[in-house]
Amino acid sequence: MVHLVQQYFSQSAQKHPDKIAVCCEDVGITYKELELFSNAFARCIQNAGIKAGELVPFFMKKSVNSAKSFLSILKADAAYVPIDSNSPAQRLEAILASSKARMLIVDNASETRFKELLPNNSVQLINVETFTCGNTSAGGDTSTLKYKNLSIDIAYVLFTSGSTGIPKGVMIPHQAIVDYIEFCVDNFKINADDQVANHAPLYFDNSTFDIYTAFKAGATLHLVHEELNAVLPVLVKWLSERKISVFFCVPSVLTMLHKSRRLKPDSFPALKHLIAAGEVLPPAVTAEWMKLYPHVTFTNMYGPTEITVDCSFYTIPTPPGPECTSIPIGKARPNMDLLIRVEDGSIIKAPGTGIEGELLVRGLSVAYGYLGDTERTKQVFIQNPHHNLFHDLLYCTGDLVRVDQEGNFIYLGRMDTQIKFMGYRIELGEIESIIGTIDGVEEAVVVYNNSSDESQKVIAALISLKANYLLEQVKTTLKARLPGYMVPAIIQQTTAEFPRTANGKYDRKSILTLLCG
Ligand code: AMP
Repeated sequence: MVHLVQQYFSQSAQKHPDKIAVCCEDVGITYKELELFSNAFARCIQNAGIKAGELVPFFMKKSVNSAKSFLSILKADAAYVPIDSNSPAQRLEAILASSKARMLIVDNASETRFKELLPNNSVQLINVETFTCGNTSAGGDTSTLKYKNLSIDIAYVLFTSGSTGIPKGVMIPHQAIVDYIEFCVDNFKINADDQVANHAPLYFDNSTFDIYTAFKAGATLHLVHEELNAVLPVLVKWLSERKISVFFCVPSVLTMLHKSRRLKPDSFPALKHLIAAGEVLPPAVTAEWMKLYPHVTFTNMYGPTEITVDCSFYTIPTPPGPECTSIPIGKARPNMDLLIRVEDGSIIKAPGTGIEGELLVRGLSVAYGYLGDTERTKQVFIQNPHHNLFHDLLYCTGDLVRVDQEGNFIYLGRMDTQIKFMGYRIELGEIESIIGTIDGVEEAVVVYNNSSDESQKVIAALISLKANYLLEQVKTTLKARLPGYMVPAIIQQTTAEFPRTANGKYDRKSILTLLCG
């Protein structure tokens, strides 16, 4: 029985040693090679002083080296923390500090970049690219390790946008991933013949689906590298050439590929499952895809990082018609429960048709909360009020839902200013907080134009500055402090009063009109 996620990999390495486990660009590694490498590299991590349960981040572009890194970290009884290789210095430093990281796994390119970004940081750098498996002085023993970790221990910590300006580290234990992956492999009948694509960045939890379904099934995991992602239409050819059979992505990718006009009925003969998750799935785009590829099963999955990728799913039976306004996020997956907190504050178990309110999620895959932040954890991870017999956490998603006639949940929107932009989860409050820390900024409000036209979607900021400060300087500082996808494309300065509603709050609608028309 598997209780630690790396065991999925080792079991498949026993069964399919010579099969390609992971490939990226033209580099591929077999199950056996990766199994032996990660055994040896895990010992190297341990020999460098990492103790069971410690957090070890890795910082590099997505590549076979990333797979070598996270698998080895897990095998060292540690938990991995993927860091975006494009992170600006401040964010990188904040994640390292929050993880109390004593070691950072890098490759050649990211080692250089790290030294440029944080020349005075004392974290120990270990380069996965220069480690050779047979080098015994560096701990090159490739034999199987005995694990100290239990299924309740943390496998990874993923950092998501935090409204206070500091990213939140979501702590996910092995058992949560196993619970999710057992369902996914069973539901989508993923097997060793599958070619599974990984489109999501590794610091986004959608990648959990790709990595561990492939590893459990003994399938090949094809990593979509950053350069390929930058010219999205090329992905059509890539998916076809790689004979991808399982493709999990955010809906905006489907929209952009559709708009590229490169989709042809014979583009994906090998594709079996197309799974969209992470943001609203537009019915019209879905209908186009479904008509083009009738041999493919389309599924809408839903869930925040805090419940381990997805807690509900809906297999779309037929292409949505023009009257369809939203595709349901479906019903709870096995071993997860969906509850609704209605307007008067009461929490409804097994909510029936028409019930509307905030979605609360219960089950084995609910995270342990936010790393080092008990306050924020307590606000959104609450004890199930229906009993106090045992520890039974409900995660309060902040998502508004309603139950339809068939008992499916319909996503209605957010209760706060969290947004999804190009698949990235962003708290507008985080951008506001960061702008607020820049010298000379008096006031800042950040809004999002959630246009149905993908090319019009934009983050915009209204700023007022003290005398003698320049907007250009604010823009430069912002680029250095935030990941590119969080930097507002429109930044407008004003000397006038910011528009406010009758109760004195910022009138975000008027600000949006002012900035985006
Ligand atoms: P993340 O933690 O990045 O996965 O973002 C989670 C948030 O994305 C959820 O709380 C929702 O607001 C949104 N989301 C995820 N899946 C869906 C979906 N299928 N439909 C609509 N919104 C979604």
